[in-house]
Amino acid sequence: MRLKEKVAIVTGAGRGIGAAISKMFAEEGAAVALASRNKQELEATSSAIKAAGGTSFVYDLDVRDHQAVKKMVDDVYRRCGKIDILVNNAGLPVFKYAIDDPSPKAEELYEDIININLNGYWYCMRYVTPYLKENGKGSIINISSVRGRDGIGNESAYCMAKGGVNMLTRSMSVELAPYNIRVNAISPGAIQVDLGHWVLSRYGQEAHETYVRKFKDIHLEGMRLNQPLRVIGEPDDIAYATVYLSSDEAKFVTGANLLIDGGLTAVLAEPPSFDLGAFSEYHQRSEELREWFSQFE
Ligand code: NAP
Repeated sequence: MRLKEKVAIVTGAGRGIGAAISKMFAEEGAAVALASRNKQELEATSSAIKAAGGTSFVYDLDVRDHQAVKKMVDDVYRRCGKIDILVNNAGLPVFKYAIDDPSPKAEELYEDIININLNGYWYCMRYVTPYLKENGKGSIINISSVRGRDGIGNESAYCMAKGGVNMLTRSMSVELAPYNIRVNAISPGAIQVDLGHWVLSRYGQEAHETYVRKFKDIHLEGMRLNQPLRVIGEPDDIAYATVYLSSDEAKFVTGANLLIDGGLTAVLAEPPSFDLGAFSEYHQRSEELREWFSQFE
């Protein structure tokens, strides 16, 4: 076991990438504190961990609430007597507004994206750091995105937040190196999670059902066609890297930003190598999807 007797905090642990990281950490011997806003989802992750013989605790909180974050971190320390690892993962994955979009919802979502995806990371690091210093070593992993490195239209808030996460990682790796605390980022490309979740939370049940029935497949196909390895990543592809970065195998690794993206950021557009038939169908159906989304704005 590579994380035997370690104590880890994973935010956004209820589903998707965070749930996969938490389960793999527990399999590798860590006690894992699971945090997100959805107690039911956290309990499901926790039950799976416990059923496999692991140890976990559930904290339902909003990472935007810095007092709640502090309370959780203090409680994990009180319970376990130390903290070794923090994985900042809780995030809102989509923005989809042009900079001059007239919808007042754009401002609201902009603030959510920055407060969750960037400020939430900073709060967790701020409150965990004293315990990692006391521990004499530690590992902080910030789940960033390829979009923190390369831009994409209508995603300014998300790209900006993830770019901020990358710089937070680098600056903190320098600040905390004297304490043997390593700070690294992982930048995932397209990872298959429940894509309909944000449609459900943003537009409601009916829209979610239509999305799943009519458009989910084209969304996935877009992700697949977009990269050299013609596959979509899985949450475990990210979890393996977090285990490595948390373990002593990575004792010389800090300030790094590991791209796990199926080659997405390595490729220059090369139309002749693409399956143009698949692309043309994809574009036609993407237009339909865009039109369908526009009714909600
Ligand atoms: P996901 O399935 O939507 O999971 C996001 C998790 O974050 C959920 O557990 C969610 O739970 C939690 N969360 C969101 N807002 C929160 C808040 N205010 N306070 C506490 N918890 C909160 O998304 P995912 O794809 O696994 O994303 C995980 C991370 O990977 C994110 O940082 C995302 O930006 C990054 N990423 C994902 C991809 C991808 O293709 N999937 C690619 C690049 C980067 P609640 O909403 O119930 O609180």
